[in-house]
Amino acid sequence: MSIEVTDGTIIDGKAIAKEVRGEVAKRVLALKERGVHPSLVVVLVGEDPASQVYVRNKDKAAVGAGFEVETIRLSADTPQEKLLEVVMGLNADPTKHGILVQLPLPRGLAAEPVLRALDPQKDVDGLGPANVAALWRGEAGLRPCTPAGCIEMLDRSGVEIEGSRAVVIGRSQLVGKPLAALLLERNATVTMCHSRTRDLPGVCREADILVAAVGHEGMVRGDWIRPGAVVLDVGINRGDDGRLRGDVAFAEARDVASKITPVPGGVGPMTIAMLLQNTARAAARSAHVAWEDLG
Ligand code: NDP
Repeated sequence: MSIEVTDGTIIDGKAIAKEVRGEVAKRVLALKERGVHPSLVVVLVGEDPASQVYVRNKDKAAVGAGFEVETIRLSADTPQEKLLEVVMGLNADPTKHGILVQLPLPRGLAAEPVLRALDPQKDVDGLGPANVAALWRGEAGLRPCTPAGCIEMLDRSGVEIEGSRAVVIGRSQLVGKPLAALLLERNATVTMCHSRTRDLPGVCREADILVAAVGHEGMVRGDWIRPGAVVLDVGINRGDDGRLRGDVAFAEARDVASKITPVPGGVGPMTIAMLLQNTARAAARSAHVAWEDLG
């Protein structure tokens, strides 16, 4: 089910993502006019059905924005060394600008050595150690897609981040931690919450910007939200009825929040849009073209 976007309370992630993809497509075209053909390579190991769907969606969006796209499919029993060899080969290929190894990897394969092996300039998921360090050190680098998408949504919805009190529930490497770093970089006062946080509802009630990235359907209730707060729901949970729902009890929360992202149609679409933006940035950088000169 998609939630009807009729009132100003709802942040329309689908529309914002479309806008971002359109801007990226223009830059891809501008790069092509300069003889650079931005390209994304997705490495998919094994047959995980969810990963197959994600990869198909990334592929489609990248082609739609004008990228050259290649998907390398490897069997689940691929040895770690072979996977590293593939990554190194792509690192060395100047025609490949963005490399994404779809996670999680099948049992028996470790993600960490793969993330370490990725050329940081091509690590368009922004999850490798060099990009993580750059983020926390406030240096230039490729930023993780979902958290970067959250910031983009706030900016494009006119939400003032600077000086706000932001509360992030969840401290994963993928979402919670990098999002906290990005909010801090934008001068929010950030509190990170997790499974051992005491009085979670009380901490949440202090937030001007509340982000839920947990993976527990409907955990954040309406009375956890300060009236007028902005709520970003990163969670994706498939209910027993097969429908996708977020971590926030949406019906309750939308009556209290000044702005809120729905699930589906909120943060989800932003992740791919930011992946495309990162890939275009990587291509521009490799050609020594300033991002600003392309727009
Ligand atoms: P993880 O499972 O890696 O992390 C979950 C976090 O939630 C942990 O830090 C955990 O705390 C915390 N947590 C668990 N239970 C509670 C609780 N009862 N109270 C407070 N905190 C709790 O998940 P991810 O960060 O990878 O993903 C989170 C959600 O976001 C999932 O639903 C996922 O599907 C979705 N997601 C959506 C994306 C999108 O594009 N929209 C992209 C990526 C993820 P602790 O560290 O103490 O265990």
